[in-house]
Amino acid sequence: MELDELPGVGETTAEKLRNAGFKTIESLAVANAGELKEISGMGESAALKVINAARNSMKMGFVTGIEVLEKRKTMRKITTGSGKLDELLGGGIETQAISEFFGEFGSGKTQIGHQLAVNIQLDEERGGLSKSAIYIDTENTFRPERIIQMAEGAGLDPDRVLENIIVARAYNSDHQMLMAEKAEEIIKEKNVGLIVVDSLTSQFRSDYTGRGMLADRQQKLNRHMHGLQKLSDIYNLAVIVTNQVMMRPDFFFGDPTAPIGGHIVGHSSTFRIYLRKSKGGKRVGRLIDSPNLPEGEAIFSIVKEGIRD
Ligand code: ADP
Ligand code: MG
Repeated sequence: MELDELPGVGETTAEKLRNAGFKTIESLAVANAGELKEISGMGESAALKVINAARNSMKMGFVTGIEVLEKRKTMRKITTGSGKLDELLGGGIETQAISEFFGEFGSGKTQIGHQLAVNIQLDEERGGLSKSAIYIDTENTFRPERIIQMAEGAGLDPDRVLENIIVARAYNSDHQMLMAEKAEEIIKEKNVGLIVVDSLTSQFRSDYTGRGMLADRQQKLNRHMHGLQKLSDIYNLAVIVTNQVMMRPDFFFGDPTAPIGGHIVGHSSTFRIYLRKSKGGKRVGRLIDSPNLPEGEAIFSIVKEGIRD
């Protein structure tokens, strides 16, 4: 079904919506009126009407627990390369969810992003989905050389693996958000099973400095996260975001990260995994909160071949 087949949506409105990035009925059905109003320039009540029409056409609204269960059954898991880390995550990184890896500089966030962009390409028996990845690189730390090492480590053809990672370099926070919106076209064209946003927060931190801009920053980030969540839901894909935080020196229990530019992601990620360096070059991952898994820790290593136990 096309946008202009919705009741109350003529060709002009459909065009306006498409230009604003709402290209499918699904994307409208999960939009909120305020967002639609702001992005498309249509009035609030018109926006609400369009959203409701999209929802009705998809029979969206309340569903039974059984229907939720049916949707959950289509959820897939992708291996991290470490059995221990997979176990902590209940079998791997989930589709239909955002997993946030946060930690200090050098804790392994980017390595995990690279590894998952390779592992998504493995077949299902080996913990992948035989799909491709989108990598939104905001810190210029995407390294094809590292992908080649990891592909070789996984016994995959490095050229093919690189071919199936679509990289977008984002130069500021607006550009980053635009890239995430553009991703939808690529998702449909290529068989995408994973979006990596590395780093989620760095551009937002530099674009919105100072206390007075915190609210703006949070609002923009929420919208960005919401957009990513929608993509993961609609296309049954996994989203990984990274977030650099500083260790609080007085920390013993609970969330170990400082609010110094730290808590800007809040609770919009489905899974939050805190990474830290440990003895002998090992890394520790700690699951901070999850809707259905116990908290816990896993020790893993970063070696030439990639992430391993
Ligand atoms: P960040 O959390 O800042 O993104 P990274 O994911 O970039 O951190 O981790 C960098 C660390 O990964 C390096 O300090 C090193 O320990 C490890 N690493 C990077 N490349 C390799 C490699 N080829 N072989 C082994 N370890 C590596
Ligand atoms: Mg990094």
